[in-house]
Amino acid sequence: MSAEAIRPVTDRDSAPWWERTARHEFAVQECETCGTLRFPARAYCHRCRTPRWRWRQIEPVGRIESWIVSHQPFLPGAREPYVVVRVRLAEALECVVYGNWRGDGPPEDGQLVRGSFTAVDEALSLVDWGPAG
Ligand SMILES: [Zn+2]
Repeated sequence: MSAEAIRPVTDRDSAPWWERTARHEFAVQECETCGTLRFPARAYCHRCRTPRWRWRQIEPVGRIESWIVSHQPFLPGAREPYVVVRVRLAEALECVVYGNWRGDGPPEDGQLVRGSFTAVDEALSLVDWGPAG
């Protein structure tokens, strides 16, 4: 079975993010009222409760905040074990993202990392993380 068998389940808020990611654009939401950056996408600002926002494209750069080694075979055909990292974004410090680790060695807490896009097909790309620079 291929990786295409399991796809992200999108909703009203997350679908535009996945569309951007498929175009290899990395963005978070920016509140039009107070400027708060947020991820994952949601309808209202958690600071000022207004529903007005826009996408803001940022660099997929951040620091490793945590990581796990998964031995659970969620994806048929995926190689276990694999590493999932939690990254705090440098340009949006309130935002964390999760993704697969693509470094040669294990990640280190606080390590500077950069996201890269792995295209599954034309409609789906995943953001993976590896050492920056
Ligand atoms: Zn706001």
